[in-house]
Amino acid sequence: MSDGMPKLTPPAQPAELNLCLQWGSIPGAEINEKLDFLEANGFQAVEVPSGEWAIKNCEAMLKAMAGRKLSVATGCGPSDFSYAEPEKREAEVQKHLPVLEALGAMGSVGLVLCPARGQVPMGFKELREDFVTNTGKRLAEHAAKHGTSIVLEPLRRNETPFLRQVADGARMAADIGPGASVMGDFWHMQGEETSFMGAFLCAGPLLTHVHIAGLKQRIIPGVFPEDNYVDGFKGLKLIGYRGAVSFEGGWPKDPQDPTKGISQDEKIRLMLNMAKLLKEQWEQA
Ligand code: MG
Repeated sequence: MSDGMPKLTPPAQPAELNLCLQWGSIPGAEINEKLDFLEANGFQAVEVPSGEWAIKNCEAMLKAMAGRKLSVATGCGPSDFSYAEPEKREAEVQKHLPVLEALGAMGSVGLVLCPARGQVPMGFKELREDFVTNTGKRLAEHAAKHGTSIVLEPLRRNETPFLRQVADGARMAADIGPGASVMGDFWHMQGEETSFMGAFLCAGPLLTHVHIAGLKQRIIPGVFPEDNYVDGFKGLKLIGYRGAVSFEGGWPKDPQDPTKGISQDEKIRLMLNMAKLLKEQWEQA
């Protein structure tokens, strides 16, 4: 403390903005085409599907990524560790073990997991304890062994009442120990956090991934003037964040005909517009 104000320690390495797209959003039909698009358009990372996809495509991804200036950020897909029946929770653990091995081989920071969604069958106290000491703990240990992590994703209360805030996810990750980390998704955070910057500061070095979408609508950032991420980016800079900022969201409707989607050319234009906007706001932060 000096003059009554907290003194922040600057990060050992300065933060870095690494723009990232999720697999389904990237133009192109096959792996190399998608990776070529990212490299040619100023993206530094890729977010792949988890589950069977990651296992089946691991070898092909390793081959396609060789020599590129790109990294595999995370694998993202469905998960649920809140079943009342222990055997169903165990099946969920077993299902994710080989996915962690594949993501580890790809050099990914981790597997995005939501411990519970929707109606949660287990009591919260029981679920937290089971996740931190059993299901999540064993997955984290396996992840650490393979050089990756489980990445807890807090959601909005309408999607999960169990894990809604980055600080809570960070606490859970810290309780689990090595191989566990947390992420922040600007879309969910907007509904659940009092401060983007404060939330990222709470996560500190446990933050390994960030999702981003428009703040007015969950579509590509830059369509509405409400899409301002400067406060959150200040938090990322203060913790020396060097992970990916990955677009997760939909697309605006065709303004001429709102029953229709927009063209692929328009999507590409909006992706480049987002990249420009986020770089500008990162500079402002
Ligand atoms: Mg997300």
